[in-house]
Amino acid sequence: MGRSASKSSRSRRSSAELPSHVFGSDVEQDLAFLLSEGRRNLARFNADLVERAFRFCVKAHEKDVRVSGEPYYTHPANVALIVMRELPLDDVSVVAALLHDVVEDTSFSLKDVRAQFGAEVADIVDGATKISDVFKSREITQAENYRKLLLSLVNDVRVILVKFADRLHNMRTIDSLSRERQERLARETMEIYAPFAHRFGLGNMKWELEDLSFKVLNPAAYEDIQQRLAKTRREQEEIIRRFAEPIEEKLRENGLTFEINGRPKHFYSIYRKMLAQGKSVEEMYDLLAIRIILDTEDNNECFLAYGIVSEIYRPIPERFKNFISVPKKNGYQSLHTSVISGDGKPLEIQIRTRAMHDFAERGVAAHFRYKADTGATASWVDASDLEEWATWVRDVFENAGDTAAEELLESFKLNLYQDEIYVFTPKGELRILPKGATPIDFAFDIHSQVGARCIGAKVNGKIVPLDHELITGDQVSILTSKNQTPHRDWERIAITHKAKTHIRRILNEERRARVIEGKELWDKRAKKLGLHLNEDDMERLSVQAKYGGRTDFYFALATGSITPEAAGELIRQLVQPAAAKTEPHQAINADQFRTAARDKQQGIHLKDPTASSSKIMFSYARCCNPVPGDAVVGIVTIGSGIKVHRSTCRNVADLHDKLQSRIVDLEWSAAEGGEFLAAVKITGEDRPGMLNDITSAVVAVQKTNIRGVTIDAYDAVFEGILTVYVADLEHLKRIFEKLHRIKGVKSVERFEE
Ligand code: MN
Repeated sequence: MGRSASKSSRSRRSSAELPSHVFGSDVEQDLAFLLSEGRRNLARFNADLVERAFRFCVKAHEKDVRVSGEPYYTHPANVALIVMRELPLDDVSVVAALLHDVVEDTSFSLKDVRAQFGAEVADIVDGATKISDVFKSREITQAENYRKLLLSLVNDVRVILVKFADRLHNMRTIDSLSRERQERLARETMEIYAPFAHRFGLGNMKWELEDLSFKVLNPAAYEDIQQRLAKTRREQEEIIRRFAEPIEEKLRENGLTFEINGRPKHFYSIYRKMLAQGKSVEEMYDLLAIRIILDTEDNNECFLAYGIVSEIYRPIPERFKNFISVPKKNGYQSLHTSVISGDGKPLEIQIRTRAMHDFAERGVAAHFRYKADTGATASWVDASDLEEWATWVRDVFENAGDTAAEELLESFKLNLYQDEIYVFTPKGELRILPKGATPIDFAFDIHSQVGARCIGAKVNGKIVPLDHELITGDQVSILTSKNQTPHRDWERIAITHKAKTHIRRILNEERRARVIEGKELWDKRAKKLGLHLNEDDMERLSVQAKYGGRTDFYFALATGSITPEAAGELIRQLVQPAAAKTEPHQAINADQFRTAARDKQQGIHLKDPTASSSKIMFSYARCCNPVPGDAVVGIVTIGSGIKVHRSTCRNVADLHDKLQSRIVDLEWSAAEGGEFLAAVKITGEDRPGMLNDITSAVVAVQKTNIRGVTIDAYDAVFEGILTVYVADLEHLKRIFEKLHRIKGVKSVERFEE
């Protein structure tokens, strides 16, 4: 419904005027058409290069067919046509468009493209291939990834333009796909491509992508709007005609050259407005945006035109927006206003120059066309333009904005992400890693098992050392072996928290296994030598032997850095005979050792009020297991603090005379919450369910933890040893009572070795 009110010097832009051609019936005709369109749209156009690319493309895809049944090359040819006509930039992007699917879909590699068409084309093709992978996932949580990746690849914006052209053609030909693929493609387009197109200022592209997606995603609403608009079209055209007439006259009087059209709003934007305002199509007066496009380089003429319009129609002041002096974030410039038309309805008007209009429709491409050549045709784009373009795009992305698309990009701040790199799995999946990351980091990022078994890596097909620093764009594959385990220097090579944590954990697990091995070796040796040493003793002796502790000592044994014989000799020399005799019955097993930490709780102090107990280490004797409330005495040991025994303990009684000087009086502290190991001996008649009855009885007493129960039965009589953690003697007595009540239990008493 465009309506040209004056002879525009450059009226070739409406797509209706573009020569049409259907690719696919004759390769030579297709080529001729493409070349003529290239010459028409691009100022400097290397026809030889484009012809070579076209022939290469036809050859490379010769065995491929589109879902529609057409030869595959018609797709890249159409993408190239879009690049020529709708985003006209240069012949390099046309060539890249022709070759964009070659690497992914044919047997030709990026190397072939590079050899035949140079690095510039190859880089664009490579970038466009990688970007498709990034766009594939539509999880919104990944939005940040898209932004970051786009930015990392934005050094050549032609990558993005080729990708958009590719998507546009796929959307235009979406009908031949299955319903499921249509929906997936449409959703992805609506959620990712359209907002990005908007952000790049590719106005036409954004609207078309939105409408094409909308048609797939909500066909009923799309059709409804289409039908209603068709019904009101005549009416709308009449509105425009009547509205435009007096304006055209006045503008001409003032010597302005211009075009007025009433472009219907896009379906999707009408739909959104309907939802937002709760109105039907018929109730909406602003289905048309009236545009006055001035053929001038003088921006002031826009204000002149605005003045003329507002003399004829009453403007609505609050609707006036001056995007000329203050362009939108994406660079869009125009004057917007609404006026009350002859029949009392508001009409939206946009006033802009031809350059501004081109920019609104084609974004970045137009920006540079006009920069280099404000004349009628496209210009050649050189390296500095591209660089400037990249800067421009970065600026666009760096500015937070207010619309939905801008919100998507809002959190984006380039400088925050400069220390990240974007690398790819062999399948093209994107991984974001900190700058300086190595194949080890990459491997652990994939999976901890991949990391643990990593023996090497290939970056872009070449084997690299594991400390090789990855850079953005690298494609990394990890070589693994199931016999591999992490090395200690991996901790240094890895820089991510994830990798470091995994490596440390695996190394620790391994060490733990070696420690257990070492302890077994030691136990055998100690038995042979008749050494009865508990874990406390071993800790102390290991330190005396200049090891970090007993685990280091065991580890050294397991790894062979000391032989069992040498270790035995070393310890034997360190053992003091006196210390060994202090606790003659201290043959402690590993199980008891595990509870050492609990037993170290103080809970007790010296009776002597002048002495400080805070620095003394107390431990509870295993022979009699004292608990708070028991009468106790302490025996000062060599190197392991004061051992707490019950006063009645036979070991103390035996040693009493000899050890008089080492015996100290102790008192329980009032502190609560301690857990003390107590051993209880139970006897009674053996019957089924006895063990179960014992454990249930004990558990029924609050806050009781059972460490172990063993039952031996002979001749219908059982004897059981129960070890439990209790707070004090009172607690233990409650347990005794419960146990006494069990049917068949004869005796319950403290157990002493
Ligand atoms: Mn494609």
